[in-house]
Amino acid sequence: MELRKNYTSARLLSARVLLSAIVLIGAVTGGNLLLHSGDPALGYARYVGYSLSFDYSQRMRLMEMGLGGGPAFESAGNVQASWQAEGLEQFGVIWVSQEGLPTYMDGTPEDALDYLFSIIEMSGTQISVDGALSTRTHDGHEVVIQTFDLLESGFVIPGIIGAWHCEESGKFLFLYAIHIPDLDHPENLSEELEQIWQGHLDSLTCHAQR
Ligand SMILES: [Zn+2]
Repeated sequence: MELRKNYTSARLLSARVLLSAIVLIGAVTGGNLLLHSGDPALGYARYVGYSLSFDYSQRMRLMEMGLGGGPAFESAGNVQASWQAEGLEQFGVIWVSQEGLPTYMDGTPEDALDYLFSIIEMSGTQISVDGALSTRTHDGHEVVIQTFDLLESGFVIPGIIGAWHCEESGKFLFLYAIHIPDLDHPENLSEELEQIWQGHLDSLTCHAQR
């Protein structure tokens, strides 16, 4: 096991998390990025693209990429916002069109979540689910929620992901968040993770422009 309280390894860890957490493979493009002025709260910007919109803190860096490499497409992609200073906070939205899923799947959000976890494992990121699924409603969609742990360099990084099907846009959507309050002490687990994730869900629209 690596030393857990080593400053350097914590910094290395954070860099690796930024690069590898979830499905962070591929080039970053600035395409389809439109920031609307006006509506977001002070200090926030709004992402609009691929039938999605959400607000994010301007201290966060936004990246858009394809699933499994290359640029994002209407059929599948990932947009994520991350911030790193004394801590690390990252959230992202992944979308996959119905046609983008393997045909053997029933097409439930649970199936889509299994599919995504299998992609994450194939990408070499170790992930384990943690506890039972829960659900809540967002914009008329039933969101299936799973907490998980990313295993990275001997550290355990907790996260939350929600999956749902948007009939209006014909896509499966996933919203995830990970949070490490203090990178020098990554063993101190976030107490705000669920609140952070819920805040992003509240700000997200998947089938109606604001
Ligand atoms: Zn929707």
